[in-house]
Amino acid sequence: MRQNNKLSSSLESFIDEDLIWAEIDKATDPDPALVRDILAKAKDAKGLSPFEAAVLLKNTDKELDNELFSAAIEVKKNIYGNRLVLFAPLYITNECNNQCSYCGFNAKNKELTRRTLTSKEISEEVTVLEDLGHKRLLLVYGEHPKLDAEWIAQTVRDVYDVTSRKSGEIRRVNINCAPLDVEGFKTLNEVGIGTYQCFHETYHRETYEKVHTAGNKADYLWRLHAMHRAQEAGIDDVGMGVLFGLFDPVFEVMGLLYHALQLEKDCGVGPHTISFPRLEPALGSEIAFNPPYLSSDHDFKKIVSVLRLVFPYAGLILTTRESSEFRAELLEVGVTQLSAGSRTYPGAYSDPEFDRPDVQQFCVGDNRSLDEVIQSIVSEHGYIPSWCTACYRLGRTGKHFMDLAKTGFIQKFCLPNGLLTFKEYLEDYGSDETKRIGDEFLLREIEKYADPKRKKLVEDRLARMEKGERDLFI
Ligand code: SAM
Ligand code: SF4
Repeated sequence: MRQNNKLSSSLESFIDEDLIWAEIDKATDPDPALVRDILAKAKDAKGLSPFEAAVLLKNTDKELDNELFSAAIEVKKNIYGNRLVLFAPLYITNECNNQCSYCGFNAKNKELTRRTLTSKEISEEVTVLEDLGHKRLLLVYGEHPKLDAEWIAQTVRDVYDVTSRKSGEIRRVNINCAPLDVEGFKTLNEVGIGTYQCFHETYHRETYEKVHTAGNKADYLWRLHAMHRAQEAGIDDVGMGVLFGLFDPVFEVMGLLYHALQLEKDCGVGPHTISFPRLEPALGSEIAFNPPYLSSDHDFKKIVSVLRLVFPYAGLILTTRESSEFRAELLEVGVTQLSAGSRTYPGAYSDPEFDRPDVQQFCVGDNRSLDEVIQSIVSEHGYIPSWCTACYRLGRTGKHFMDLAKTGFIQKFCLPNGLLTFKEYLEDYGSDETKRIGDEFLLREIEKYADPKRKKLVEDRLARMEKGERDLFI
């Protein structure tokens, strides 16, 4: 891995801050008719321009905000139906050379106990996660010179190698690690990662430089071009994001959108997923306890709704940083992927005393177990929990997936496949109560199928699963 701070000497920024400010100015105090026109256009699910996104965010009329929420709910329902993908983060290392002032893993944080998992420890963590029923993991890493691309690739192999009892196996490993060079990304692509995630944190350069004072991450342009390098290396599912709380959220949403547009223009495909972490308290971080741009829950819900309308076909990922009550509200307006039962430090899943501020990255807002989260999303919200990985395993990624998504593919394939993975969970891992709730729910979902052939197809597979077959999808 490269270690100096001149990584980006030949790169240029495609974030035009003057243009963003001019558009924000123009969008301020918008005419209600303009807001309604934009909402009407958004319902066609063709996305919105940065200016249109700014208009929706700068509107202060609460009635129009409610119309925004309704539009987001409608777009979400039309494209994704009631499926919700579940995953867990797995922290591999909290060793880090960077000095991100908001993060507990910051190199200057001497109070943090540092740990990098060995292959054996990774296996132990994965076994615990598999025994809970997880099939999709997000591996998370600090950035340290001794932990290069080859080492990261080995940790991915370690995860895929673990198969435990029942249907225990991880079928998709996504990665959240520091940006690599093209060769490094090729190394990751070769071991079969799913999505490569990297959040730009803040698109505002002055703020970026203020909160990243040392290490590779201090290089704004090197990070800005990370997704381009990943695509060049053949990783066509990339996940972008912003850390909300560091700077003006309207500016950040526009920065994210300009970033996505540039990626689409240069590489032919935009982001597969968008994440929108909000700053949470973290050990030894003043800014994480007192975020300079704290959004209210109402404003944050607006941000998520606007992201849904701006990126209709990208997965929107919500983590356990938010409380369980607020997570339920955000689910309605746009979220499609949810982490559950998360722990945020290396070794946490095998640690009986898992609430450990001295090792974790930030404080978790939703501490419920996976099984509890499933009961709640099924019985209170009517969502199908899904661990489906069929597209990724059949090579339907990047532009291929985006093109399919636009033809109603998600409703036709992802929903029934979600049901099948839920059945697998219920058979192998669900508590008695979850199994009771879940099996009743499955019956109701199957009754919704208007096409008798399709209904039979799903029913047959569910019956085969009851007899012991696993990993079935259509
Ligand atoms: N080290 C890699 C990097 O910085 O890109 C990846 C791992 S880092 C732990 C993953 C993400 O956690 C960061 O991109 C940042 O957005 C988020 N994060 C850091 N500190 C946080 C905090 N205090 N609250 C919420 N999210 C935080
Ligand atoms: Fe290290 Fe990432 Fe945390 Fe920054 S955000 S200190 S790079 S782990």
